[in-house]
Amino acid sequence: MSSQQNNNSNNVKQAASSDKALDQTLRPQKWDDYIGQELIKKNLNILIRAASERKESIEHLLFYGPAGLGKTTLALLIAKELGAQIRITSGPSIERVGDLASILTNLSPGDILFIDEIHRLNKTIEEVLYPAMESRSLDIIIGKGPSARSIQLELPPFTLIAATTRIALLSSPLRSRFSGGTFRLEFYTDNEIKKIITRSASILGMTIIEDAAEEISKRSRCTPRIANHFLKRCRDYAQVAGQNEIDINSTKQALDLMEIDAAGLNSHDRRILNVLIEKFKGGPVGLGTLAAATSEDEATIEEVYEPFLLQLGFIERTPRGRMATENAYRHLGQKQIQGNLLSAS
Ligand code: ADP
Repeated sequence: MSSQQNNNSNNVKQAASSDKALDQTLRPQKWDDYIGQELIKKNLNILIRAASERKESIEHLLFYGPAGLGKTTLALLIAKELGAQIRITSGPSIERVGDLASILTNLSPGDILFIDEIHRLNKTIEEVLYPAMESRSLDIIIGKGPSARSIQLELPPFTLIAATTRIALLSSPLRSRFSGGTFRLEFYTDNEIKKIITRSASILGMTIIEDAAEEISKRSRCTPRIANHFLKRCRDYAQVAGQNEIDINSTKQALDLMEIDAAGLNSHDRRILNVLIEKFKGGPVGLGTLAAATSEDEATIEEVYEPFLLQLGFIERTPRGRMATENAYRHLGQKQIQGNLLSAS
């Protein structure tokens, strides 16, 4: 790993750990505080009520969509609504079949098992999960060579709720086993993000003026986690400036200091677009080449940066690779003339 990649990944880790603490405080504890995603909430409400009336566990659920849109929060709310115990783990932390076996055999009837980043579960483990999901049985092999024998354990009724940012990486046998449904979380509207920011500010004990909340929401990539993160930075900025409320001026200054532009792009996003436009004449360019030219890894580009750039219509994914769109040129103040570039005057 290059030193730049190391720095990037340290920054990401630090931001992630402070975000985690913040997430806990601001995470909605009841359905009314979970803003937006109305269709998903309606569907879940029916699933939960029907299962509760039958006194059964709800069927397995899969949530997908970019990070920070509220997948974990949904799982926690479901558990709360059902009065169920939730066990939280993630694909990369289940390294061996034994890890999964121990998690599953320790579940109590009615428990919810939440597996985040399920696309990172390895194939051997995935195969152990199939019968566990389908017929609540765990088939494991004990010993090696001729003395190896297979045993079958019965599991208590449980619900698996899985989340992923990369649905395409899930095998179709695994996808088909989420019998309760597969739900795609949508990006939030500015208005929804504004509501989330206003609620969060009141939890943090700060007053935020309406236009400041609007400014943060416009720049938060339509993502609650980012909105909350920006709100916290804006609160710090206002506090250091001796203000007892978050207003538009301090908000703009704080966001500019973080290099977040009017469309919500940060310096990494802009670098990706700049490289695409300046080095590759706007593309098309393959993901691997783009990753090498920006010193990012392919998964980070695909999972972190690309979804929002696609959402804004700044890049397109074509069979021959990624392309910058006219909107991207306009945003960066570049002129696109028959594949050549001129700086906008
Ligand atoms: P994901 O699991 O999709 O990465 P999380 O569920 O961890 O996202 O959400 C990140 C944070 O964003 C939560 O702690 C919560 O504060 C906030 N959040 C997410 N979705 C919503 C929502 N619909 N309403 C209010 N806050 C939300």
